[in-house]
Order: sequence, then C-alpha cells, then structure tokens
Amino acid sequence: MVFCKIILVTFLLLLIGDFVATFFYHVPEHIFGKFHTIVHHSPNRSFVRYALRTRKPCALIAGFFAAFPYLMFIPLFWIVSPLGTILGLVVAECHVEWRHLPLQQWQTPFLLKKICQRLWITTPERHWQHHCNSRVAYGDIFTFYDQPAQAWFKFLLKLKKKWKASYS
Ligand SMILES: [Zn+2]
Ligand SMILES: [Zn+2]
Repeated sequence: MVFCKIILVTFLLLLIGDFVATFFYHVPEHIFGKFHTIVHHSPNRSFVRYALRTRKPCALIAGFFAAFPYLMFIPLFWIVSPLGTILGLVVAECHVEWRHLPLQQWQTPFLLKKICQRLWITTPERHWQHHCNSRVAYGDIFTFYDQPAQAWFKFLLKLKKKWKASYS
C-alpha cells in the first residue's frame, strides 16, 4: 500500500506537472513571452546566467515559472506521500538533465529508445527537435501532450493575431 502510494504520487507529479508546464507555461511562452525562446532555446539554457549577463532580472521570473508547475502541488502530494513527492521531483530533475544532453555526446540506445516510444517518454533526440523548431515535439516528459499542445499553439497564435489586428 505504501509502495503504491509512492509510485502513484511520483507518477501524478510528473503527469500533472508536465500538463500544467506544457499548456500554461511552455506553449503560451512561445506565443506571448520571449525569455523561454531567447534563453532556454539557446545553447546556454541558464536563466540565472542570462539575467546576470544581460542585467535583466525579469528573466528569472520566466525561469521560475518553468519549474513552478512541478512545485505547485507539493503541499498536496506531500500529504499523501512525502517520499513519492521527493522521488517525483528527483525524477523530474533527472529527466531535465537527460533530455538536454548534447547529441554530440549522447545517443539513446536503441532498446531504451523503443521503451521510451512505447511509454510516451521524451528522449533527448525528441526534445532536441523542439529546440530546433518551437512548433514541434511538445511535452517535457510525456510525448502524448504534443498533439493537443500543437492545437493549443495554433489556437493561441490565432488569438494573438486577432488581438494585434484589432488593436493596430
Ligand atoms: Zn528544453
Ligand atoms: Zn520551447
């Protein structure tokens, strides 16, 4: 029972965190924001270094909101399983590091790639596609968020164009 709670909370933290991050941060940032594209999609992904180098502390806000979806439900998950919450955060952080490995240094082994495909898990190769083209390969951790995220992207883009047209 305890083990089930740990696994469930770990899984939910990743699933819900990725959902909120994709639909309420990542896609809207690409449409309305600027720091995610400038900082995260550059070779140097650190919001802290960018804020220091350019003396733009507001970039830190965008950096914070990128992580916030994974942190916002901690109080709720903690009640159910503190260990599951910690494990979820550790797995989320490890996946951040893994999916950003430079492809010159890392190639996902064939078997692992197949397992990730079956489980809809984002590999470094897939995430790199997103860094090259901000219209594809959404879902920080889970690839099944990509299709609805692209629809959300198109919807928000249309909305932005409408607003621009009506206010210009
Ligand atoms: Zn990335
Ligand atoms: Zn992006």
